[in-house]
Amino acid sequence: MKKALITGITGQDGSYLAAFLLKKGYKVFGLTRQENAAVALNKIPHLADQITLIKGDLLDQNTLFSALEEAQPDEIYNLGAHSFVQTSWNHAVLTAELTAVSVTKIIDTALKVCPKSRFYQASSSELFGKVKVGPQNEETGFYPRSPYGVAKLYGHWITVNFRESFNYHASSGIMFNHESPLRGLEYVTRKISHTVALIKNGQASELRLGNIEGRRDWGFAGDYVEAMWLMLQQEKADDYVVATGETHSVKDFLDLAFGRVNLDWKEYVKTDPALYRPIELGPLVGDFSKAKKILGWTPKVGFKELVYMMVDRDMELVTTGIQNVSR
Ligand code: GDP
Repeated sequence: MKKALITGITGQDGSYLAAFLLKKGYKVFGLTRQENAAVALNKIPHLADQITLIKGDLLDQNTLFSALEEAQPDEIYNLGAHSFVQTSWNHAVLTAELTAVSVTKIIDTALKVCPKSRFYQASSSELFGKVKVGPQNEETGFYPRSPYGVAKLYGHWITVNFRESFNYHASSGIMFNHESPLRGLEYVTRKISHTVALIKNGQASELRLGNIEGRRDWGFAGDYVEAMWLMLQQEKADDYVVATGETHSVKDFLDLAFGRVNLDWKEYVKTDPALYRPIELGPLVGDFSKAKKILGWTPKVGFKELVYMMVDRDMELVTTGIQNVSR
């Protein structure tokens, strides 16, 4: 039985990845600071008893050492990070320590404890930032535009450097935005789908947003965790862009989300200057042809299907009064 250790198991991607690996017959370990397993795994409560949680903190290398000793993983998926772009401005130092330096801590520890393990680093399209050319691929230059993007850039390059210097099997997935019903409510997609459900159910009357002209390449998180796993099944570690190749605006998302419940977003959406970003990114759209060619990966869920999936799930949560809405 293969063993995998996931950092960031309490998040959206950690939850989908844990479910995916369990289905493949893995023994799954999750590193978390959270004491309470029910809280830590509240996005996948039905799988909680199949996952072994190990208490640890990405900031504290001693706990990483004990975690890797205990799990002796074949595969390590580093998904833990301070991941919300907007608030990374208010927590720039913590973001650097958690999202950047901790990558070195975990690889350095893995080389000592389980040097034969394979490592996945969750990189991000935020690396591209102020980009002029599109679509972006593995050769496109990086120009991050937030403390989060800068920290992820460090994580990406340190992964490449450990791979090239020590022949460690470390891959970096440059993932464009990926969403799901398990996305946190602070992200624009889930903020919209959840508020649409509240409005439809008479529990909210408006939706306040920032820049609705903002564009992203949005895919489905469930598809993206498969790409992570595929990277670690290759003989040779490498870097891959994972994306849909399509770009949509927040407005496009609004059209579909409100349309799903027969409402017109123009009657409910108010733009609020306080929600604008200090700087926006270039038009992000990914070219996933390398992942397609080498990993055989393509996204399965399209944009419309994704929006409908999120709105339908939030309608279910709101109408049944379920409180777990994935903060
Ligand atoms: P990320 O910044 O790409 O990680 O993802 P977000 O979901 O936070 O933001 C995606 C886009 O939506 C950006 O262009 C934001 O400026 C835009 N946006 C507009 N209104 C909002 C809002 O109320 N919340 C968030 N999070 N983003 C918003």
